[in-house]
Amino acid sequence: MSWIVEAAPGGGMFLPQIGWHLDAQQRATCSIVSHAHSDHLGRHRTILCTAPTARLMAERLPGRRESIILPYGERWPLSAEVHATLYPAGHILGSAMALLESPHGRLLYTGDFKLRPGLSAEACRVPPGGADVLIMETTFGKPRYRFPAAEIVGGEIVDFCRRALEDRAVPLLLCYSLGKSQEVLAHLRSSGLPVMLHAQAARLSAIYRECGVDLPEFRDFAPDAAEGHVVIGPPQIDRSPEVRRLRRRRTAMITGWALDPWAVPKHRCDAAFPLSDHADYDELLRFVVAVNPRLVYTVHGFATEFARDLRERGIEAWALGRENQLDLTFLG
Ligand SMILES: [Zn+2]
Repeated sequence: MSWIVEAAPGGGMFLPQIGWHLDAQQRATCSIVSHAHSDHLGRHRTILCTAPTARLMAERLPGRRESIILPYGERWPLSAEVHATLYPAGHILGSAMALLESPHGRLLYTGDFKLRPGLSAEACRVPPGGADVLIMETTFGKPRYRFPAAEIVGGEIVDFCRRALEDRAVPLLLCYSLGKSQEVLAHLRSSGLPVMLHAQAARLSAIYRECGVDLPEFRDFAPDAAEGHVVIGPPQIDRSPEVRRLRRRRTAMITGWALDPWAVPKHRCDAAFPLSDHADYDELLRFVVAVNPRLVYTVHGFATEFARDLRERGIEAWALGRENQLDLTFLG
């Protein structure tokens, strides 16, 4: 008897044998929450997550819930026969992979993850002993997504900012408020450039500090005082009235999708830099080898394509909740 994994309506997964969800988005009785990005959250009765995830989730999705806070590496009994252990996923602060051990075998759910070390998240740790069944994210599951070293990308971002400031323009770095903004801020530390953060990124950065992450100084974004500063904010502010008040600005998107040649025209920005908090294609492959599973379910992004690549390497893999019929025909 192996693990049964179902795609949950609205997003996330359901494990019917134990009655727990993984990153459900619709209200669930019990859900493990891998990290606090909004596409992994829901208004559940009981959640199991790390302390930073609970703190960040309280900010992003306030409400009453029972929270089981589990430090990395400690085992928690979900029932008499099933134990959960969280391991750092390296994606954002508090992000966790969940290892479930039961008579059905060992199941590992990655949530979002990356193997490359970051400056503002715990370093990823692959559970020793691997797993029988692996549910993994495959956002960048195509071979064309191979990220340059983060130090190189960080250096390019600093150069972009310096050039803009020399031209008396405000460099505006557009990225997610949670995780990416703090990572970009950390990359700017050695440049000594003064930084302003948009309100949401500033609030979340304050929580990072409360949780013990050492982030460089920043000021709250104020359009009238922004000249001479680097501004970090979410992509949607680019068209906001407050940003339009910046007389001269130069914008850059900070995203793994910057590897797509159409990133700059698509986002109508001046530049795009591939600093990502996800695993790239090679990391995804390396991770599967390290976990050595019998069966892989892929979720998010290029799930169908990556599952097919794994099967071509002799590993049974299927995109969860996706149409796999073409591949079945091929195999049949
Ligand atoms: Zn995420």
